[in-house]
Order: sequence, then C-alpha cells, then structure tokens
Amino acid sequence: MDVGIFGGTFDPPHIGHLIIAQEALEQARLDCVVFIPAMVPPHKRDARVSPFPLRLAMVHAATSTNPRFSVSDIEATLPPPSFTVDTLRALRRAEPEWRDLHLIIGSDSLLELPTWRMPEEVLRMARLVVYPRAVPGATDPSPAYAAGALFLDASHLPVSSSLVRQRVRSGRSARYWLPDSVWDLVVSRRLYLSEEGS
Ligand code: ATP
Repeated sequence: MDVGIFGGTFDPPHIGHLIIAQEALEQARLDCVVFIPAMVPPHKRDARVSPFPLRLAMVHAATSTNPRFSVSDIEATLPPPSFTVDTLRALRRAEPEWRDLHLIIGSDSLLELPTWRMPEEVLRMARLVVYPRAVPGATDPSPAYAAGALFLDASHLPVSSSLVRQRVRSGRSARYWLPDSVWDLVVSRRLYLSEEGS
C-alpha cells in the first residue's frame, strides 16, 4: 500500500490541510492519507498548543467525510517530543502492510528538515511529497533533502492555523477557512478567543 503520512500540530486543522492531503492523494497516487496530530510538536515546544485530545477530535471532525482519510493517535504512545523519525519507526512496526510511506509536508517544513532529528533516516523510511507554500525570504531547500521529493503542482493556499486563531481572537469569523464540522467545534467550545492555544 502507498500511504500518505500527514503530520502536523493541527491547531486547528484548516481547509489548506485537506486540500494538501487530497492533492497528495491524487498526484502521488496514494491509497490513503493518515493524519497524525503531533502530541508535543518539537518545533513548537515554547508555544502554547491546544491539548492533544482536542486537536485529535478536530482532525477526526475534519476528515470524517473522506473514506480515504484516516487519523492516527500513535504519537500519544511515544515519548515526547514527537520526532517524525520515531513516528515513522513506530508506524513501520505497527503497520507492516504499509509498504511505501510518503511523508506529506509544506515547503516551509522542507526548509526546516535539516533541523529535524535524523533527517537522513526519515528520508530512508519515507518519500517526501511537498506542497508549495509562500515563505518570505526563503532560500532554496538543501538539494540533498529535496532530491527524491515529489513537488506537487498546486496553487498556494493563503491559510494557516495561526491566521485562523488570529481571526477568532480579534473577533472575526473563521467560517469557511475550516470545514464546518471544525468551525462548529471552535464556536461551541469557545476556542482561540483569548490567547494563543486554548
Ligand atoms: P501554524 O500557523 O500554527 O504554524 P500551520 O497552518 O502551518 O500551523 P501545521 O499543523 O503546523 O499548520 O502544519 C502541518 C503541515 O501542513 C506542515 O507540513 C505545513 O507546512 C503544512 N501546511 C499547513 N498549511 C499549509 C499551507 N497553507 N500551504 C502549504 N503547506 C501547509
């Protein structure tokens, strides 16, 4: 099976995440995409992040209408922080029939790859599938890491979780920036109203 692995903080999951997963599914000819919320995101350790169960519930709500999307809480079983290399190793053990793993990331994450734990090992276990994202002042990614990657042919998506949180915090609606099911959760649980995280 060709399986897309889509990790993220998902605080909250937005329509960009869903479009990225769908483009990856089609252009990389994947059988399915597994969304994996980070238990403790290594790059956001200093930031306030919403509790894992809440982010997990929002990702379930976001993906439930697509039979080729699923959600894994595997990072809850691993020691924090949630390094991708550990997650991929755990998936290899838990899901041996997932023969070919494709790690879906935005191009901003590709630029950060050299700072990840054991990036060469990550690339040995999974092929990168990269969605373009505008990164102000960005330089080209390290050729060593970009070499085997599939760069998706797709339009930039001017949406981010921070933008959604900022809109809600400033009293504006984020409706349609999120799937309705996630927006309903944000409203009913009064998320993101005051400060970063919730
Ligand atoms: P935040 O604004 O809080 O940093 P985010 O919108 O980047 O959050 P994450 O959950 O951190 O969302 O991202 C998960 C993955 O999705 C990352 O690889 C990120 O690069 C990618 N991603 C998220 N939004 C976009 C986008 N608009 N375009 C391309 N990639 C994106």
